[in-house]
Amino acid sequence: MTSSNILRPDWSLPNNIEAAVTLRDFGNLATHVGDDPALVILRRRHLARALKLATVPLYLNQQHTNRVSIWPNREHTSDALIADKPAVAVVLTADCLPLLLCSKDGQHIAAVHAGWRGLAADILGQTLRTLKVDARQLKLWIGPAICQRCYQVGNEVRQAFSNCFDGRSVEQAFSSDGDRWRVDLPLLAERQARDYGLTEITQSNLCTACSADRFYSYRENKDRGRFASIIWRKS
Ligand SMILES: [Zn+2]
Repeated sequence: MTSSNILRPDWSLPNNIEAAVTLRDFGNLATHVGDDPALVILRRRHLARALKLATVPLYLNQQHTNRVSIWPNREHTSDALIADKPAVAVVLTADCLPLLLCSKDGQHIAAVHAGWRGLAADILGQTLRTLKVDARQLKLWIGPAICQRCYQVGNEVRQAFSNCFDGRSVEQAFSSDGDRWRVDLPLLAERQARDYGLTEITQSNLCTACSADRFYSYRENKDRGRFASIIWRKS
C-alpha cells in the first residue's frame, strides 16, 4: 500500500521484504526535536498502520556513532539496526544519509543512519561486520540525503575522510568552494560499500535540501523534524 505521504523506493526487493520513506507531509517522527511526544507517538502508530507492519518498529537513539543494535535489543545509543528475523528497521534523518540493506535471500535486513561523522567512523563497516553476510549477497539502497551542491562543509570533514578513505575517493567526493568544501556523501557511501564488496547498490538520487518541500532538511529549512527510512521483513 502506498499513500501520498509515503514514498516507496525504486528498488527491487525479495518478496518478503518491503521498504518505505515517509515524506514531509507525514509529519515529524523524532521525539528528541522539541515536538509534542504524544503527536510523535500518534504518527508512529499511523505509520505502522499505513504500512501494515506486523512487528513494532524499534526506534534507535541515534548519536552519529558507529554502534549497531541487533533486533530485538536496542543499545543505549546506536546508529544502525540489523535483524535476521521478521522485524522492522528504521532510521530517522533530515539531510544525513539513510542506508537500507537486505540480503538477497530475504533473511537479513539493516537500516543505517550515516551522516558524515557516522560514515567517517565506519558505521557501514560495523554494520556489515555485525551482519556477517557475504557482501555479494547484499543489496543496498542509498536514500534521500543532502546532495553535494547543497552540502558545504569545513576542512575538518575532509580531514576526517582523508584519515579513513582512500585518496581517490576523497578527491572525487570533495570539490573546493573557496576555503570550504562541498561533499558528496551518497558517493562516499557507495565507494565504501564497493570497497566492502557490495555490488548491488541503488542510489535514490534524492536530495533533502533540493526537495525540502518533500523531505525534512536541517540545512535548508532549519527543520527540527525527521523523516523515517524503513525496511522490514514480513516473514
Ligand atoms: Zn541538493
